[in-house]
Amino acid sequence: QVRVRFAPSPTGNLHVGGARTALFNYLYACNTGGKMVLRVEDTDQARSTKESEAAVLRDLAWLGIKWDEGPDIGGEHGPYRQSERTALYKQYVDTLVEQGKAYPCFCTDEELQQMKADAETKSLPPIYRGKWASASQDEVQQELAKGTPYCYRFRVPSDQEILIPDRIRGDVRFNTNALGDFVILRSNGLPVYNFCVAVDDALMRITHVIRAEEHLPNTLRQVLIYEALGFSIPTFGHVSLILAPDKSKLSKRHGATSVGEFREQGFLPEAMVNYLSLLGWNDGTEQELFSAEELQQKFSLERITKSAAVFDKTKLSWMNGQYLRALPDEEVISIASSLWTESGLLAKSDSAFVHRAVSILKNSLELIVDADTQLRELLDYPLEASIANDEKVAAVLEDNFAEVANAVVAAFDSGELPAALAEGADAYKGWMKALGKAQKRKGKRLFMPLRVALTGTSHGPDVGEVLGLLTLEDGDVKEAGAYV
Ligand code: GLU
Repeated sequence: QVRVRFAPSPTGNLHVGGARTALFNYLYACNTGGKMVLRVEDTDQARSTKESEAAVLRDLAWLGIKWDEGPDIGGEHGPYRQSERTALYKQYVDTLVEQGKAYPCFCTDEELQQMKADAETKSLPPIYRGKWASASQDEVQQELAKGTPYCYRFRVPSDQEILIPDRIRGDVRFNTNALGDFVILRSNGLPVYNFCVAVDDALMRITHVIRAEEHLPNTLRQVLIYEALGFSIPTFGHVSLILAPDKSKLSKRHGATSVGEFREQGFLPEAMVNYLSLLGWNDGTEQELFSAEELQQKFSLERITKSAAVFDKTKLSWMNGQYLRALPDEEVISIASSLWTESGLLAKSDSAFVHRAVSILKNSLELIVDADTQLRELLDYPLEASIANDEKVAAVLEDNFAEVANAVVAAFDSGELPAALAEGADAYKGWMKALGKAQKRKGKRLFMPLRVALTGTSHGPDVGEVLGLLTLEDGDVKEAGAYV
């Protein structure tokens, strides 16, 4: 049975990269009928916090990612926090020491610095080639008797080629000479990250390790530990980086990068999951919109791409719009109307006005939270700002705008235009046609000045619909600006 894991370090928020890793593991477990393990890697005591752990779990749950074993629900292979497994790690360090595969090292920081500097002058890689690898029992006993602090180092076999079969990258080869004997247990008694990961993956019976490419150098160390302890090696899959549109590594300066930030901005979890699933995976077709069930059915390691994925927020927003339009009307109405009443824009939360406003805006919205600014724009009459900032409006003004505007005002005053609007879209179109004839204008030369005259902007939903909404006059609107 397939067993995968997601192993977050609780040192901050869940970022899109981590969320994508978690999702790929989850989808692979779903696809194969396997199990998903959640393991909290809190060996870095200074940086790990309970708050961060809770936030990561909350964000995973928000995305709909579920795990079968984890710190919150337990399981057969727990505990699932590395900080609670220290005794276990020590036991495996002892095994390696007994077998001569690890040894105590009494080097001081100064000695290590000196070794590093020496290697540098000889243009050698800065790796440990220390004296304690070959120290005699007597020498070790002497230091122990003196109470000199020491750590344990793993004895890296020399000049061995290690082959890491990777389901995404193909065979990756490393020569062990690139590696010095690395620390597995620090002098303060705490085990080192790579050692914990290898021991945990083995004891938790993980069959597939799917994680970010940047962990490849760790994989080499972990494979050596596996081999030394006689554990069977899991299948690896190292997923490529996520880049920003400018092809640099995605980071804070590109805007929101954590799942929590996207949630706060109003993104829907279904859209987020769909978008994340396509960061380095596709089903071999052009399809882009996948339901959660479809993803679970179609996901495979074979179709994870080797090249880096680009995080494109515009695309994510577009996708969110697609999911928003697929929501039942009542749901959008309920969210939008509470946004409008909470922001003070509307007085009533359920009315013909709200229904009409949602049906007009729903097709152009990408984020539900934008419903507030968009409705505000419709209700305001921002002509002055548009003249100053919108070239299209400025151009309209140069084309004898006053003529059309006067005709519109006259049609309002005579009751002709309100009557057409009350009758519906066809009547409005008929009125517009007649106006065009009288003004000797058609196409863009007619509907642009009309739009500007009636709404004060050059863009937005169908003018007839907007006016239909605005003339649904009742006590709804609290802060509406003036309109013609
Ligand atoms: N704790 C590591 C991280 O958050 C993940 C390590 C792994 O997946 O092996 O980057």
